[in-house]
Amino acid sequence: MKVTIKEEKCMGCGSCPSAVPEVFDFNDDGFAYCKVDTIPDDLEEAVKEAIDMCPTGAIVEEKSE
Ligand code: SF4
Repeated sequence: MKVTIKEEKCMGCGSCPSAVPEVFDFNDDGFAYCKVDTIPDDLEEAVKEAIDMCPTGAIVEEKSE
């Protein structure tokens, strides 16, 4: 599982970095970014919840071909 964060949609609410700090962090501009290339299996559920919790829908799962 891979995710990207649409920076133009992120409003820096802090929800995803506090929910899954192993995966999400803030960049210097105050927007969240995904700091791992592939989400570890044991964090997939937490990341899916973070996707659902994001108020702006900025976190998008990348579909593998
Ligand atoms: S939950 Fe969404 S809006 Fe909030 S910091 Fe994460 S990506 Fe940005």
